[in-house]
Amino acid sequence: MKTNTIRRALLAAFAVGTAMAATPALADKANPKIGFSIDDLRVERWARDRDYFVEAAKQLGATVSVQSADANEQRQISQIENLIAQKVDAIVIVPFNSKVLTNTIKEAKKANIKVISYDRLILNADVDAYISFDNERVGAMQAEGVVKAKPKGNYFLLGGSPTDNNAKLLREGQMKVLKPYIDKGDIKVVGQQWVKEWNPSEALAIIENALTANANKIDAIVASNDGTAGGAIQALAAQGLAGKVAISGQDSDLAAVKRVVAGTQTLTVYKPLKLIASEAAKLSVDLVKGNPVKFSSQIDNGAKKVDSLLLTPTTITKENAKLLVDDGFYTAAQIGLK
Ligand code: BGC
Repeated sequence: MKTNTIRRALLAAFAVGTAMAATPALADKANPKIGFSIDDLRVERWARDRDYFVEAAKQLGATVSVQSADANEQRQISQIENLIAQKVDAIVIVPFNSKVLTNTIKEAKKANIKVISYDRLILNADVDAYISFDNERVGAMQAEGVVKAKPKGNYFLLGGSPTDNNAKLLREGQMKVLKPYIDKGDIKVVGQQWVKEWNPSEALAIIENALTANANKIDAIVASNDGTAGGAIQALAAQGLAGKVAISGQDSDLAAVKRVVAGTQTLTVYKPLKLIASEAAKLSVDLVKGNPVKFSSQIDNGAKKVDSLLLTPTTITKENAKLLVDDGFYTAAQIGLK
């Protein structure tokens, strides 16, 4: 008799537990569940974004389920569908392909899930918010740094991934700076190419070919991030040109900052990842809770004017690399500073 009562009590408790898990529409908003769908965790910066984001979300009482699509469009769609099925409260997405998520996001919105576009804008979709750095400004800073080092000469433009909206914005910013020099005839663009999936090996092959095609007469490379700059600098080094050709990047990847300090990369751009990640975590939680959020602008993504928050990037050269230490991004020892 006594055993039966206990069993009944246990069964009742189990039923309550199951029922609670099965009614996530009434999920406890004090502890939101967030899905973080990242294009490619194999790229150094995204692993840092993940760590900072998970930490910030935890501080806010939220839990995070992280997925990496490893630069695979279909895998990312399945992973987002999976997060929808798990009935998370918000999904934060770094899209591999900016243009293919319209329907998947429609499903998320139908399930009453908030959708946040992280670092890269998702086009033609009903996203709730976009958080990034001013990418056009990053592009301008890349070109400015390279022009400062080589105001005249043969330029090669090494673009980012053709599926990434940021690659286009960066190029727009770069061209705004370069155009007057091109018009004057001081700068000649001898070639330009987009780097599939931002892949460093692809960048290496592109620059090898460009050097051959131009009999090594390239004075500057406007590279759109540190990973691709790394590939390009390997190709330059093979011809004894590392440090002679001006070249940009962005992200302040560890290897890139070391190259900047050593003089083989002209500049990188620092985007405080802790800031974007913690702002994004806060934004996600506020949207889920229905708290008011302050945005800096609205950006048209083809479907709507998306509430956006654009943060400010900083150029890093040999002269100011210490700033990365002051901001806690690296230790002095890590980047070879005293
Ligand atoms: C990001 C860069 C990153 C690149 C490759 C871009 O969308 O803004 O920071 O280097 O993707 O992952």
